[in-house]
Amino acid sequence: MRLIYICDNCERYIDEIEVEEWDETLLGFDALTYEERNELLHLDWNRQIGTVRAICDTCWQENEFTGTLLSSTTAGSENPLH
Ligand SMILES: [Zn+2]
Repeated sequence: MRLIYICDNCERYIDEIEVEEWDETLLGFDALTYEERNELLHLDWNRQIGTVRAICDTCWQENEFTGTLLSSTTAGSENPLH
């Protein structure tokens, strides 16, 4: 499964990762509510491609984002983007 991160604010391409083993906890998706998941996460299991709405570094710095939108700047070794 290839996960493509797109900025939910400016629609910019952020990053993409290859997920060999689907682990929602590792990817941070377990923190989302059902509604947020539906909104932020679009998975195409047939094509093995998923898109994730997140917030890019630029928007994250320029705006005050609260809530549970995924941040590509979240520190920590478990962040799959780094
Ligand atoms: Zn952005």
